[in-house]
Amino acid sequence: TRLPESERKKRPKIVILGTGWGSLCFLRKLHTDLFDVTIISPRNYFLFTPLLVGGTTGTVEVRSIMEPIRKYCKRADADDATFYEAECLSVDPVSKKVKCFDNSAVKGEVSEFELEYDHLIVGVGADNQTFGIPGVKENACFLKEINDTRNIRDKILDCLETASYPGQPEKEIDRLLNFVVVGGGPSGVEFTAELNDFLQSDLLKTYPLAKRINVTLVEALPHILTIFDKKIIDHVEKRLQSSNNTKIWTKTAVVGVREKEITVKNTSTKEESVHPYGLLVWATGNTPRKITTQIMQSIGSDVQNNRRGLVVDDYFRVAGADGIWSIGDASINPLKPLAQTAQVASQQGRYLGRLFNQLADEMNNDLIKKRENPEAHKEQQKEKQQQEKANLFNSITGSNKSFEEAVKEKPLFRYKHMGTLAYVGDHQAVAEFKGDHSTTVSEGYITYYLWRSVYFTKLLSFRNRALVSFDWLKSSIFGRDISRG
Ligand code: FAD
Ligand code: NAD
Repeated sequence: TRLPESERKKRPKIVILGTGWGSLCFLRKLHTDLFDVTIISPRNYFLFTPLLVGGTTGTVEVRSIMEPIRKYCKRADADDATFYEAECLSVDPVSKKVKCFDNSAVKGEVSEFELEYDHLIVGVGADNQTFGIPGVKENACFLKEINDTRNIRDKILDCLETASYPGQPEKEIDRLLNFVVVGGGPSGVEFTAELNDFLQSDLLKTYPLAKRINVTLVEALPHILTIFDKKIIDHVEKRLQSSNNTKIWTKTAVVGVREKEITVKNTSTKEESVHPYGLLVWATGNTPRKITTQIMQSIGSDVQNNRRGLVVDDYFRVAGADGIWSIGDASINPLKPLAQTAQVASQQGRYLGRLFNQLADEMNNDLIKKRENPEAHKEQQKEKQQQEKANLFNSITGSNKSFEEAVKEKPLFRYKHMGTLAYVGDHQAVAEFKGDHSTTVSEGYITYYLWRSVYFTKLLSFRNRALVSFDWLKSSIFGRDISRG
């Protein structure tokens, strides 16, 4: 039921930071009629990260896995949400304000602004972890954003074109065609697999020098893919190394990066060695973003002291702050830590959206009853008026007692793990499903079709599904595009 205009003005202001998995799932669940919603993010689209690695070789085109956020701001059944393409620079948890900045190429007279919030939803994801290793930021390619995939795709082809120059010294050809992937987690492994597919199916057919490409996956731990079952680890290690062009170096940590070479250290013998490279892809996990660290510092290190991100409780309330909530990779519940995945972020976003709707509905109930049956409601209303000096809506803002009480009665978030899937190359994937008492693992071609169908159905729109199907079909019939740019 639509609120009267006088009440609508008092709706709590929700500011959502980010347009990723957590934030979008929150927005999609949220009843935007009950809140005044503003979204802030430096990118005006949602990115379907599970298929991002395919963009580095052209198995899918990146536009096929992007969705404009403004599409989700428009609501047929409720109020529209407002979107500003900007980066949030800082949050003041005391005055409840966020400061934002236009970090895009086109700037107007106004390129900074401030917004007030009653509730701030921090869904800014995480940054690339570099462990402060010198030279990584300047020389390596990352695997997180759309531009990263374009950059990698371009560099692969650039290395081949440059290696093909007449008179290029043999040693330089070897360097240019030495591709190093750092980090044997799912991102590094999926990228190595995609790169190997690209090489076998497309590059070897077109570039005479492609057979000299060497791909090395470097992992500091004794094994790659440590989140998976041992059987899967063995299978993937064998698979990747069965290609003549691919090697895995385990127990090897990259400790230094220069423009054309890396220094690696054997974690057992502590011996160091230097290796030239043409392409360096860095996938060693996550670290909190600058904005997350700023919020943590402004709250204080006595409560916000976790290296993974904002400490939250079972309802995703940020510890030590009033009206700040956080979901996805930006947050951690130290008592129930979960993996930093899209699966987790999306479930958290949906849960929080439902929680907000329930709380607002309860607070509104009285208003609705009053409108539907004014006489019967009159007496009850009189009694309640004493307690409800504050506006009904305002009572769900911040640490207000009634909100604290209301939230406590709500069911806690329960994560439902649907399994872990990863692509391992040559039309094969691995899957792990953990039950309460047993773990089921599967690998091979059938798992590949499962992997494809799961992610296909998870794509947000019919448009995305149509484009991705077309890309898959196109790359399997005509091969991947090898033009640069
Ligand atoms: P994100 O989805 O990263 O979104 C963060 C948002 O915040 C972005 O819109 C960003 O632009 C915005 N933002 C950043 N800084 C600011 C700021 N200062 N102010 C405002 N907004 C800001 N998980 C799976 O479950 N399955 C997979 O197969 C899988 N594959 C992956 C493959 C790759 C290559 C990568 C990198 C990750 C993969 N993940 C996968 C992990 C998954 O993508 C993340 O866990 C998930 O994106 C986290 O969601 P999030 O909402 O916390 O953050
Ligand atoms: P990760 O943290 O899972 O793995 C990083 C790996 O890099 C670790 O094994 C670590 O030992 C290694 N490493 C760190 N420093 C190193 C160094 N200096 N030299 C060599 N190796 C080093 O990171 P990720 O793969 O980027 O994944 C990030 C998150 O995204 C994870 O939560 C992951 O589960 C999720 N993700 C999931 C999928 C999937 O489900 N298919 C795919 C991609 C990413």
